[in-house]
Amino acid sequence: MNVIEKLNSIQNKEMTAKENVEHFIKVIDEKNDSINAFVEKNYEAALKQAEKIDEKIANGEKVGCLSGLVFGIKANINVEDLIVSAASKTLENYKGSYNATVIEKILEEDGIIIGLTNMDEFAAGSSTETSMYGPTENPAAIGRIPGGSSGGSAAAIAAEMCDITLGSDTGGSIRNPASHCGVIGFKPTYGLVSRQGLLDLSMSLDQIGPFANDPSGIALALNTIVDYDSSECTSLHSDIDFTSVLEEKSLEGMKIAVCNDFIEVTDDKINKVVNKAIQKLVDAGAELVEVSFDHLELCLPTYYLINYVEFFSATRKYDGRDYGYRIEEVCGDEVLRRIKMGSLISQKEYSGKYYKKALQARSLIRNEINAMLENVDLIVGPTVPKLPHKIGEELTPMEMYAYDILTVIANLGGIPAGSIKAGEVEDIPVGLQIQAKPLDDLKIIKAMSVLSNL
Ligand code: GLN
Repeated sequence: MNVIEKLNSIQNKEMTAKENVEHFIKVIDEKNDSINAFVEKNYEAALKQAEKIDEKIANGEKVGCLSGLVFGIKANINVEDLIVSAASKTLENYKGSYNATVIEKILEEDGIIIGLTNMDEFAAGSSTETSMYGPTENPAAIGRIPGGSSGGSAAAIAAEMCDITLGSDTGGSIRNPASHCGVIGFKPTYGLVSRQGLLDLSMSLDQIGPFANDPSGIALALNTIVDYDSSECTSLHSDIDFTSVLEEKSLEGMKIAVCNDFIEVTDDKINKVVNKAIQKLVDAGAELVEVSFDHLELCLPTYYLINYVEFFSATRKYDGRDYGYRIEEVCGDEVLRRIKMGSLISQKEYSGKYYKKALQARSLIRNEINAMLENVDLIVGPTVPKLPHKIGEELTPMEMYAYDILTVIANLGGIPAGSIKAGEVEDIPVGLQIQAKPLDDLKIIKAMSVLSNL
């Protein structure tokens, strides 16, 4: 049963919201000791909320568009009364004092929040190994990292611990773990989803988005969380119905592009599997063309420079006075590296040298992406260029950053991008990344639906 079918069966009284919650509590209790996807549990409130929803349904009252569906939320999104630590000792005792806008929307639509999921400390990573709660297992490739930084959200879906999860994606943190765990992850166009209540990593790049096991879960979540937010100057208007393409079986009339520059940096075995998925899109009627991307080597340095500077500025509030500890005193190596680098680059004498150059490079990259997309509907290719490493294997920072080469592009350009399972290499899932023009998010959901309906 996919997510929308479950929603219908709750609304038609074939199953209750409470049964749905109880089922997931059982699964989490069985699996979480070994998977470590959830770091905060909200069972009592979830059960109470489910009972209320069931009552409304029994009385024939109107219920929301997510009635009874169970959500896991990345631990950097504010949920009232839960410990929103961003997996950092800095905030180990910080209780969410309000609900992020996305949480308000989910609750208004009768979605149920069962807990918070594990992540890299402050979302700075690609493996979920830097969490103060310890690493998350990859349920689809035991012994390996689930990817990151939203590794807990991806693993919770792969282990079927809830219907939908939310993550945040600054340079790939939704798509990377979706790829490694074999689930669907989606980063909307920058500005479509409110960031109010998200703990910033790099605010000009951060975007909240959903994970699910099938496109209907992604579409239902987007229908609720995509909305204009008048308090954000970067917010965009949209009235897309993401469920409108779920039945699609054809891509007739769509032009999809592959980019050799992306293929060249990717493991051959991954390319082979991804190509098979692309062939399925062609078989469904899409026209395949080739495009090129000239500045791939600029993407990681540009991304990390901007990330360091914006993260440094975002962390100045963690000075140990209002809440939590002083970040520099308790944080892990990667977070400290970013703070130190960000502080250095932000110094006046260096600003022209690094940050301004990074902003210029970002414009160049954005123009390049828009040019690539000008005559095509979608760019398709690998999500991550290499397979996930074994948990605990020591990687240099540069090796860790190398996971992000194909995902940072969408954040630098503000374009929508998603990852869906293409297949497996040595029993390890591999994702197909699908990118589109700003506000063409629906075309990605359409391609994912066609793949799922084959
Ligand atoms: N791996 C990237 C980083 O460490 C992306 C993180 C993210 O998207 N939150 O910055």
